[in-house]
Amino acid sequence: MAGRLYTAARSNLSEFGMAGSHPPWCHPRWCAVADSPPGPHLSAPTGLILDDHATVTAVVQLEQHPPYGDHRPVPTLRVDLHEPDADDGVGYQLVLRPDHARGLAHMLQAAARQAAE
Ligand SMILES: [Zn+2]
Repeated sequence: MAGRLYTAARSNLSEFGMAGSHPPWCHPRWCAVADSPPGPHLSAPTGLILDDHATVTAVVQLEQHPPYGDHRPVPTLRVDLHEPDADDGVGYQLVLRPDHARGLAHMLQAAARQAAE
């Protein structure tokens, strides 16, 4: 995909771009569609430290499984709460449809505004 900015370490970016079946937000470093067994398309993660001691971090990625049969999966937002005490480092994972993510974001913003009043 010409004009896309990838900082990925994946070696064959031209092959990735020519595949043409990746969502525009899919990042070649994170995409797992070509893995065995195949995984989902994934965006580059973005993270935010959530506490003063930098122990809990929220990491957000877009995720979409490739089509199978007549099923056409839609993108979802994956929110991983990374905690040092969790077995695999992820204490909790939340998977949201985009409309639910927007609703939750509005609720959080409204509550944060009230807290600041
Ligand atoms: Zn992909």
